[in-house]
Amino acid sequence: MNRTVREIPKIELHCHLDGSVSPEYLATQAEEQNIALDMEKTSVDDDCQSLVEYLGCFDEILKVMQTEKSLIDSVVDVAAQAHRDGIKYIELRFAPKFHLDKGLSLLDVISATVQGAMKAEAQYSVVVRLLVCGMKHHSNAENIEVFRYLHEQPSLQKYVVGVDLAGGEEDDAMYEFAECIAYAKAHKLNITLHAGECGCNKNVYDAIKLGAKRIGHGVSSLKDTELLSKLKREDVLLEICPCSNLQTKAIQNINDIDIPLLKQLDVPFLINTDNRGVTRTNLVKEYALLLDNQLLTLEDIPLINKKALKYAFVDSETKQQLIKTYFDV
Ligand SMILES: [Zn+2]
Repeated sequence: MNRTVREIPKIELHCHLDGSVSPEYLATQAEEQNIALDMEKTSVDDDCQSLVEYLGCFDEILKVMQTEKSLIDSVVDVAAQAHRDGIKYIELRFAPKFHLDKGLSLLDVISATVQGAMKAEAQYSVVVRLLVCGMKHHSNAENIEVFRYLHEQPSLQKYVVGVDLAGGEEDDAMYEFAECIAYAKAHKLNITLHAGECGCNKNVYDAIKLGAKRIGHGVSSLKDTELLSKLKREDVLLEICPCSNLQTKAIQNINDIDIPLLKQLDVPFLINTDNRGVTRTNLVKEYALLLDNQLLTLEDIPLINKKALKYAFVDSETKQQLIKTYFDV
């Protein structure tokens, strides 16, 4: 079955660069940069108790992602994994502020990831685009400082196609970030926002109101048909990440991801990995888990991916090309 899932052309819209580098990448970087890494601390297993514990892995990983070369290599590494999963288009997201420890500027960091995307595209038949993340524990001013490169640096615009807000989630907190989200909106940047990962539906309602075109996770909305109808009405896509949600206890059971209900209400959604390395997953495994639990069928997969491509932030010309080549089924 896995071989067949792999062969179906797919896209992925929710994948964190730092959380998705492979153990091989980490070992190579640790050796090249002479940094001692505790590999045990770079991923979690099913004993993980919360999002906070989950996010702890990133501190260890980020020790080796502070140079231009390590950033370029990281994008190529994750694109190679995506290619192995049968992915034809991927958006990789990262928080530039997490890569400044060794003197890189924000622009250096973003430029290095763009170089990585170009290198990866030359090596693999996968289109790679990037999203920059502001962080929920950073101020609006700090997040605006990151977002402004997207409209001030035309050379980056082909590859850096949108913004996100990531990090730990508190109840009813979305309006604390209203200023930086409004900034992104005013500059016509594409916006996806992490929300509804810790059970708070108000965050999802507010994220939609603030202008998100996609919601990172949003799994809590699966228990609220009114909210699901709103997502459908406002044409907002849910970026669902099953294995990550099980580990962070965003859901208790895989059946909580009620795909039959999403299909019935025609709510836009896509299946993603979130963090391949930290979660020890890949996209084939994510689909296999849903197939094994009868939450979808093999025939659903091409359709889900084709429909979700509409919500990708890549330019429309590239999108049309992708549809023509892989998704016109
Ligand atoms: Zn995420």
